[in-house]
Amino acid sequence: MRGYDLTIVGAGPAGLTAGIYAARAKLDVVLFERMLPGGQVATTDLVENYPGFPEGISGSDLMVRIAKQAEKSGLNVQSKSVEKVSRRDKLCLVKTDDGEVHPSKAVIVATGTEPRSLGVPGEAEFKGRGVSYCATCDGPLYRDKKVAVVGGGDSAVEEALFLTRFAEKVYLIHRRDRLRATRVLQNRAFENKKVEFVWNSVVTEIRGEKALESVFTKDVKTGQISELEVDGVFVYIGTLPNSNIFEEDIQRDERGFIITDQNMASSIEGIFVAGDVRSKLLYQIATAVGDGATAAFAAEKFVEER
Ligand SMILES: Cc1cc2nc3c(=O)[nH]c(=O)nc-3n(C[C@H](O)[C@H](O)[C@H](O)COP(=O)(O)OP(=O)(O)OC[C@H]3O[C@@H](n4cnc5c(N)ncnc54)[C@H](O)[C@@H]3O)c2cc1C
Repeated sequence: MRGYDLTIVGAGPAGLTAGIYAARAKLDVVLFERMLPGGQVATTDLVENYPGFPEGISGSDLMVRIAKQAEKSGLNVQSKSVEKVSRRDKLCLVKTDDGEVHPSKAVIVATGTEPRSLGVPGEAEFKGRGVSYCATCDGPLYRDKKVAVVGGGDSAVEEALFLTRFAEKVYLIHRRDRLRATRVLQNRAFENKKVEFVWNSVVTEIRGEKALESVFTKDVKTGQISELEVDGVFVYIGTLPNSNIFEEDIQRDERGFIITDQNMASSIEGIFVAGDVRSKLLYQIATAVGDGATAAFAAEKFVEER
């Protein structure tokens, strides 16, 4: 049983940044990631609001750079999924999917979020064959086809615009009469002739025989049901925190996101939480890397004091 000063869970922007700071501080640190390093950013085509890249940068390129920097700092990244994090006798215990338990003086949980699903008939049936949560991954399959994007925030509008590169038409279905997305993205969507807005509407069903054929929407004001013929549906209606690894009760907000203080300390001693899995105002790369740096610095102080 190998022990560490610090264990980090998740190799998105928050976890990798925490890893860079912790490795440079010469902590004995390990990072566990269940997939490839990169996190959600790696699934987006273009990042235009992360400072330092005036022309923008592809999400995967940005994450390759951050992962390289972490490697150069000497961060030990291991490909394992973390199943449980707990606190016993002044030590944190991190159980991985190979059955090993890793004692650690402190832990940083940076597990991010996963897409919220619509929960309507047909969604599960067509998931991966018409219903997608990743336009960058699946967009090129819809060349000259019709698709619907569900949502009204930055991700929905950004990905709808990306899909116009391939699809002949992109319906943007939103439950309100205005978008939540940043103004610059809204303007681009309004100017794009391929984007058609379906306002005040929610998706009620996704249908098809062998392949996905249409999406049914309900006007939330009039109750009217409409059918849109589409080949694909991309869902961007928010996220759910990946926060089910804690054995003890941990303080959360009403949506399940972990509550921390300004130094990223959670309600469990020695467990710090950074990035999108944390309850906060703005869920972006810039705030995730800030959280990661703060969490690593706070964890370093915590380890030194013990
Ligand atoms: C489509 C889309 C477009 C976006 N565009 C932008 C943009 O243009 N600009 C911007 O600033 N932000 C953008 N964002 C938001 C940005 O991606 C997130 O704010 C950021 O990725 C959060 O980083 P994170 O490290 O907290 O979490 P994540 O990036 O979600 O990384 C979490 C990591 O933890 C891993 N993990 C989870 N559970 C476990 C476990 N049990 N064991 C081991 N590993 C685990 C996951 O596999 C993942 O790699 C976008 C998001 C999406 C979905």
